[in-house]
Amino acid sequence: MLYEQEKQSAITAAQLAAKLCEQVRQDQAEQTITKADASPVTIADFGAQALVCQMLRQTFPNDPIIGEEDAGMLEMRQLEQIAQYVQYFQPRATPEQVRSWINQGTGQIASRYWTLDPIDGTKGFIRGDQYAIALALVEAGEVKVGVLACPALPLEVTKPRGRKGALFVGVKDQGTLLMSFDGTFSQPLQVTSHTDPSLVQVIRSVETVHSDRAQQQDLIETLNYRRRPISMDSQAKYGSVARGEADLYVRIPLPQDQLKRENIWDHAAGAIVVTEAGGKVTDLHGKPLDFSQGAKLTQNVGIVASNGVIHAQVLAVCQKLAVMTG
Ligand code: AMP
Ligand code: MG
Repeated sequence: MLYEQEKQSAITAAQLAAKLCEQVRQDQAEQTITKADASPVTIADFGAQALVCQMLRQTFPNDPIIGEEDAGMLEMRQLEQIAQYVQYFQPRATPEQVRSWINQGTGQIASRYWTLDPIDGTKGFIRGDQYAIALALVEAGEVKVGVLACPALPLEVTKPRGRKGALFVGVKDQGTLLMSFDGTFSQPLQVTSHTDPSLVQVIRSVETVHSDRAQQQDLIETLNYRRRPISMDSQAKYGSVARGEADLYVRIPLPQDQLKRENIWDHAAGAIVVTEAGGKVTDLHGKPLDFSQGAKLTQNVGIVASNGVIHAQVLAVCQKLAVMTG
């Protein structure tokens, strides 16, 4: 099978990173470090990036990795703390090695590259809610493999209090699987075919500043969707669309963010998880997401991820409401 080694490596790396993050949570060590752009980051973000980069580098030494974090801001005290967690998995890792592994994630765009969000939804991680380790392989601007490891997400939608830990794995032309972390559960995913407005379930960010809530509400009302939106952090939202828990995830920039663009690591893995489950992912203009430009989706404005059957109608309403400019 094409991409078999990439898929297996991505699963292993994302799972280990997820274990590190859960260990940090268990130890209640997820104190925030504030980045230059005022967004939060924790030692788990850095530890997860170190582990994933170190593993990918061993198997695919020529592939650049574009990760969210870099180690430039870290003091030795923080590096030592990160190294303690990395040592659960790489017992001989030194703080200096950990620094260099993190910085392997500062690669440049190429015809083939990996993109990593070591903790997508850091605010959710800190709050005790959902988060994901998101890892994707991109070739010629198109996502070929995407893995979302969601340690806090119930494995089965029908058992919200059941086993936690959901792994979504999408591979180009091979479909999307939902797996348990221990590999004992594996299920091909299929989006819903809901078109009835009383059935369509919208999913959105918990953080109200990540997308324009007022515009989302206009869209929902115009389409006459009746269900109350589900709020969830991170690309776990894409997993929810892929497994039919939700039918639509829309991201609309706030007026003050019109010139900002989405990060590739916030969407690459999620996008293939949805499309390989039969859904559709575009920007608000209906353009495919273009992962060939750099760390940002410079050619795209906002995101629409759906079960596919409602996609055209949602885009038409976006145009009518003149949602977004750009
Ligand atoms: P979510 O949990 O879906 O809201 O997404 C979390 C991601 O939103 C983070 O990884 C950030 O990269 C991204 N983010 C942070 N601030 C903004 C913003 N103002 N607009 C859009 N996305 C943002
Ligand atoms: Mg993110």
